[in-house]
Amino acid sequence: MDEKEFNTNEEITKEENGPAEHTQEDEKDTQYEDVCFVCHRPESKAGKMIHLTKDISICAECMQRTMDMMNNGNIDYSKMDFSKMPNISMINLSDLQNMIPRRQKVKKKAAAEEAKEPQKKFDIHSIPAPHKIKASLDEYVIGQEKAKKVISVAVYNHYKRVAAGPEADGIEIEKSNMLMIGPTGSGKTYLVKTLAKLLDVPLAIADATSLTEAGYIGDDIESVLSKLLAAADNDVEKAERGIVFIDEIDKIAKKRNTNQRDVSGESVQQGLLKLLEGADVEVPVGANSKNAMVPLETVNTKNILFICGGAFPELENIIKERLNKQSSIGFRADLKDKYDNDKNLLRKVTVEDIRNFGMIPEFIGRLPIIFTLDALDEDMMVQILKEPKNAILKQYQKLLALDEVKLEFTDDALRAIARKAMEKDTGARALRAIIEDFMLDIMYEIPKDDNIGQVTITGDYIEHRGGPLITLRGVPALEMQG
Ligand code: ADP
Repeated sequence: MDEKEFNTNEEITKEENGPAEHTQEDEKDTQYEDVCFVCHRPESKAGKMIHLTKDISICAECMQRTMDMMNNGNIDYSKMDFSKMPNISMINLSDLQNMIPRRQKVKKKAAAEEAKEPQKKFDIHSIPAPHKIKASLDEYVIGQEKAKKVISVAVYNHYKRVAAGPEADGIEIEKSNMLMIGPTGSGKTYLVKTLAKLLDVPLAIADATSLTEAGYIGDDIESVLSKLLAAADNDVEKAERGIVFIDEIDKIAKKRNTNQRDVSGESVQQGLLKLLEGADVEVPVGANSKNAMVPLETVNTKNILFICGGAFPELENIIKERLNKQSSIGFRADLKDKYDNDKNLLRKVTVEDIRNFGMIPEFIGRLPIIFTLDALDEDMMVQILKEPKNAILKQYQKLLALDEVKLEFTDDALRAIARKAMEKDTGARALRAIIEDFMLDIMYEIPKDDNIGQVTITGDYIEHRGGPLITLRGVPALEMQG
């Protein structure tokens, strides 16, 4: 931003931010461009802005139009030097200040920036090979071998496609958008979060149930991109290489077994089509829906990786129905109940099953990679407790280690916690809640006594048959009275 123009509003700025923050903001401001308060076009499109306050700018065209309305166009405002005007008195600036979001700016596109310093290009050689992506995922995500393998290959291909760009040979690599099906708490969100962190790309997590068609109460479909833009610090180019995870996608299925058309879910699916495929989308910056007060920015979704996830309850019945129908034809008729206890039934899912569930064919067609996650069993729960890089146990152990207290869990304690979590039927999500419950007393009591050297959580403690074992420094273990 031009320093001179800034000075006309110095008083307001100083009052608000204080001198220290002012310099920091200024530095950041050079990377951002102003957006017209009225027409929402950025400076690169609308031309030089007139700054009413630090956060409010208006383009010459809109200013001209506003003034025209007031004096029938006798003055040409684009030729006036507003920096020399003491203030603009017909608008109460402090009122406007309260009406708009704090930051009425978007990050400049690279073209302008490249002149100053060459932008670090997305380099094909920097994309880790699929086996490396999988190995990194292994450090955090327990089990789900197939899912980790599929996602590693798909992500690798996706970013290779991004790096390669449109080729002259006419061969365009298809987008690797994904559909992830798995029970709640099996690690769908966790997998995507871990992936985005490993790849260092912005990630937006949206909930399909909150999305509605424009004009209805709820978030516009474009809001998923607003979130991505926010995750990319309003840097459009960075956002255009990000990942969008749309959770609970099964909730926007068409309702089955009804003759009435269920428009809500279907129309949200329709609305998502252009995003999934790749289009220029006008995205509200810093808001969930388009309205007169928010600036818009154009985001191209061609290189954004979309991952949709859902638990798809009842899908197993659809699969079973299909398989039973197949086996009731001819000689396989006797195998009718064969699939009732099949734990891995979900793995047999086909596109047809998902369509029968209520996803429209065009939608499924834009998610070419479909894979499933397994329900977690007791063994996996125990592993989740102690093995991942940031396992819950390790976190508590670190906390207590800061008090120089050693924390141990016996194997039967871990089993007991896993069993309790299995009963809740919310996957690994239950583990943290259960552990927190048991650790509360310990975190409360231990710091009281400097002599405590070790705490051992036993199965009996978890099953409410006794307290944890306390070892005082240099003394044999004692059972804490609960
Ligand atoms: P959902 O499948 O419903 O999206 P989440 O990914 O949100 O489930 O899982 C909830 C939490 O459970 C995660 O934050 C993570 O800590 C833990 N978790 C779930 N599955 C796994 C797994 N396979 N490995 C390690 N941790 C897991």
